[in-house]
Parts: sequence; C-alpha cells; structure tokens
Amino acid sequence: MIRLPKPVIDIASYVSEVVAERQNGINAAFFAGIQAEWTTRCQHYDMKAGDSSQLPTWATALGQATSFKTLYASPAEEAAQAPILKTLRDRSLTLCPMCGEGGTPNTLDHYLPKQDYPDFAILPLNLVPACDICQGHKLARYSGPNGRLFLHPYYDAFLEGPVAALRIHPPYNAPTPELLCHPGVPAAATDVVTRHLDELQLHSRFKSSFRKEYIRVLRHAARMRNRNRDVHAAFEDLREHAADRSVNSWEHILYDCVVNDPELIAYLAAGQLPNYL
Ligand SMILES: [Zn+2]
Repeated sequence: MIRLPKPVIDIASYVSEVVAERQNGINAAFFAGIQAEWTTRCQHYDMKAGDSSQLPTWATALGQATSFKTLYASPAEEAAQAPILKTLRDRSLTLCPMCGEGGTPNTLDHYLPKQDYPDFAILPLNLVPACDICQGHKLARYSGPNGRLFLHPYYDAFLEGPVAALRIHPPYNAPTPELLCHPGVPAAATDVVTRHLDELQLHSRFKSSFRKEYIRVLRHAARMRNRNRDVHAAFEDLREHAADRSVNSWEHILYDCVVNDPELIAYLAAGQLPNYL
C-alpha cells in the first residue's frame, strides 16, 4: 500500500542488451527472433500499468518459460539484468510496499507472476519488494472475476494518500479494531483496495498487531496525563512522526484513527484506564 518511485529504465536498450548476451548460447536464435515483440510487450506493460486485463499472456514466451525464469533466478554477474535486480533487492525500505507493515521487505515479488508472464520475469517495472508474509498470501495470483487483486506500488498514484482506515470499537479498555478502505480513496479504486486488503489478509494481520500497539497507546496516554500534557496534541505528534515514513504505515493508520475519534480521545484523556498498564 506504499507508493514507490517507478524504476527508471530504457526498455528497448535493456531488452536489446539481454538478447545480445544470449547470442553465445543455445537460445540465441529464439531470443533474436522475439526481441522486437518482447520489447513491445514490456513497453505495453508500462503503458497499461501492469494491468493483466489489458496484457494478454504470450504463447511464444510460455513455450520457452524456463529460459526467461533462468534470466531471473540465476543471472551471470555481468548480465544486464544483474545490477538492476541487485538494486531492487538492496532498497533500504523500512516498510513493506504491499502491506505497510514495518520491517525491511525480504523478497522481490513478480506483480504479474512469471508462471503466466515469463516475459516479464526480469522487467524491473514488474518487480516489487515485498515481505515474506505478503508474498505467501499473494503467490502467483493477480486477477479475479472482478478484476485485479492487488495494488501496484509503481503505478497506483493514489497510494500517495491514505488507502486504509482503522475504526476502534468500544469498550475502550478492550476494543475491537476494524480495518476499512479509506474514504479518501478515489471511487474507481475502492474495489481493488478492498480486494488488496482481503487478499493479503490485512484485517487479521492488523488485528493481531493491534492488541500490542493499543496497549502502547494506553500507556502513552497515561504518561501524557501524568505530565499534564494535552493527550490529543500528543497523539497528533505521533501521527505526524508516523506520516514521515508513510501515511499507509500501520503506525500512521493507528494514530490517525486515534486522533480522529473524539470519543476515544475523551477516554484517553480522562477515562478510567486499565490497572495493568
Ligand atoms: Zn507485506
């Protein structure tokens, strides 16, 4: 759910370099023969923002899928794609772009999977850093009966703004969290945001982390009270701090909910906090 800058790449020269490097191997003729169409397909990927409904699979590539997968899985050190893959893996991200959970994403996900789209296996625009949990839920899926299942961190510009909102249901000493599509999401995108939250099981994942995080909220409220600080302002500070990383970080989603819920703020400022704090 985090917007990432799109990798900068000249697709035609990239494909041409990869094809040139194949000219000493057994697939020389195959790659030379597909260069033009492969280039066009990669350019279409960019034009269609990775939307599978507008990017049919390619029988020629599917017939030679292993060759494409090898380019991704075991590139020679001096191969054209090697430094690009390395850069994508070396990102110093502190949040997973797919879910917004804290931590450095451990893996590269093929937004359109290499099983169905081997020709996009080394296309940087199709490779998105992701955490293991997200990848485990996403696997090779990308589309359902109602359209695409996942947001694309390189192309969904609305990811600059919040996409998930939290509601905290009372009682406030033992509340229930509910994760929703943010009301600020453009109408045309609410369905895909909802599918993204469902498919990555973000409701239950957020819920399990919420228990611990909410205790920190209560503790912070207690500290602020002891110091005679304004509780609402204190949470506004935390929200601002969290927004520096992303408005779609789990921390920001939590603090944004706290700050915007007057009943919860009233409880945190003056209610009976649990004794165990
Ligand atoms: Zn993730």
